[in-house]
Amino acid sequence: MAIRNIRHLGDELLRKKCREVTDLTPKLKELIEDMYDTMYEAEGVGLAAPQVGILKRIVVIDVDGTPYTMINPRILETRDTQDGSEGCLSVPGKAGIVIRPAYVRAEAWDENMERYEVEADGYLARAICHELDHLEGIMYVDKVEGSIYDVEMDDEEQDV
Ligand code: ZN
Repeated sequence: MAIRNIRHLGDELLRKKCREVTDLTPKLKELIEDMYDTMYEAEGVGLAAPQVGILKRIVVIDVDGTPYTMINPRILETRDTQDGSEGCLSVPGKAGIVIRPAYVRAEAWDENMERYEVEADGYLARAICHELDHLEGIMYVDKVEGSIYDVEMDDEEQDV
């Protein structure tokens, strides 16, 4: 178990495009375990590999107690829209309103490199879109409606 350093907005690595995973090496399996540790430690609900400095297409998400390891994830279908408040572990203490699809269907590979699909709505759909953006070097602050505002550190936050 290891907690990795989370990169913050302004770090140019967060703006780079991530590479596909072709071979899930022991080093990448360790990365995935560390990503969960880091996300839970920071009380976040999602984390993308570039947030800990690794430019690979890997994200972990746990919105409601069900963890999703998503390797090489891709959105297959979206429906409707939702707007809501969104935060990011790479932009601590801030949040903003972002419009996201209300429903997404995505494919990804798990830690055994087995393909699966996930259907999501609500905050899980939002988290999937947010994390997949990280893999393209896109941050939520690029998409925010209106302005980014401060949130109290003891607020119930769901940073991704
Ligand atoms: Zn984020």
